[in-house]
Amino acid sequence: MGGAGGPGATTARALAEAGRTVRVIDKRLHVAGNAYDEYDAHGVLIHRYGPHIFHTKDEQVFDFLSRFTEWRPYEHRVRSVVNGVAYPFPINRDTLNRLYGLNLDEAGAAAFFARVREARDPIRTSEDVVLASVGRDLYEKFFLNYTRKQWGLEPSQLKAGVAARIPVRTDTDDRYFTDPFQTMPLRGYTKMFAAMLDHPNIELKLGMDFLAQREALLDRTANGGKIPHVVYTGPLDAWFDHCYGRLPYRSLRFEHEHLPHTARYQEVGTVNYPNEHAYTRITEYKHLTGQTHAGTSITREYPVAEGEPYYPIPGTDNEALSQRYLSRAAKEQGVTFIGRLAEYRYYNMDQVVAAALAAAGKLSGK
Ligand code: UDP
Repeated sequence: MGGAGGPGATTARALAEAGRTVRVIDKRLHVAGNAYDEYDAHGVLIHRYGPHIFHTKDEQVFDFLSRFTEWRPYEHRVRSVVNGVAYPFPINRDTLNRLYGLNLDEAGAAAFFARVREARDPIRTSEDVVLASVGRDLYEKFFLNYTRKQWGLEPSQLKAGVAARIPVRTDTDDRYFTDPFQTMPLRGYTKMFAAMLDHPNIELKLGMDFLAQREALLDRTANGGKIPHVVYTGPLDAWFDHCYGRLPYRSLRFEHEHLPHTARYQEVGTVNYPNEHAYTRITEYKHLTGQTHAGTSITREYPVAEGEPYYPIPGTDNEALSQRYLSRAAKEQGVTFIGRLAEYRYYNMDQVVAAALAAAGKLSGK
């Protein structure tokens, strides 16, 4: 049991191949979780729940997924707009040279960062991370307001790991990721997850709310005298009926738009708007998918407090609360918690798959 997104589908497949019978239950009417992609009304492949870009260092994860999809090589690039100019992001040497009208070489860029960075000890928060690497001016231009928008919190209220996701470079590499495997499922994520779930030992139940029917589903009499093992992929606090209070999750509102006579809307896959607008970024899918179409489709992401949970919030204030739930989860019998929501961890897609494969390995005694 488990949802039909990354953590649930991966665990289900691995357990099914180990000979177990698995029932996958998801309250949505489709597979692939938040990675779900679909053709919009104009025939452009879009990601309904915002852009998902696959990248990994983990060959085992890549090999596992490769059984369910062919790939299309894709290296994601991002620009960040500051005072109306789009700069390479993560910050690299070109960002510095263009922003400040300089002509630094690699050593010059390193010396620049060394001069502007602030000493912070210990490095505890996202504010510490950024100030200690690029200093105040770049922090205020590229990070401060984006982070406020994305999380509704100050960088000083977020754990270091959030901003530490973003590297700082003295070279001119403008790729968002540097992992050896950077590639998108050729026919989309939905098809990849559908292929993963297509196994004789997997029964798929869509449009079914597991928590709402938990008692009945876990009833011994309904399960031939046995209580099934649960792989739970929903929000951690919901499993425990929010007994210690609500764990915060960050949501997004997506504004999808099709531009009929525009073959190309922006120069790269994603453009970030740290300081203007209520949205954080705009993604144009044709960059990600390689699709050719006379028009194009884009998505603006508006971070919001209420709505579907998309991100755990790695805040300094809610750390004790999430730890309390996690310690309880570790002791819970008959349940394995996997994924962003259930482990309350800011996982990337490949980390979800790795965690699910590891969990399935343990469950099947491998
Ligand atoms: N971030 C930022 N400015 C940017 C992009 C990212 O300050 O232009 C910070 C922000 O706090 C964000 C974090 O870095 O939440 C991680 O960014 P990433 O792009 O990895 O976020 P995701 O794609 O997971 O939403």
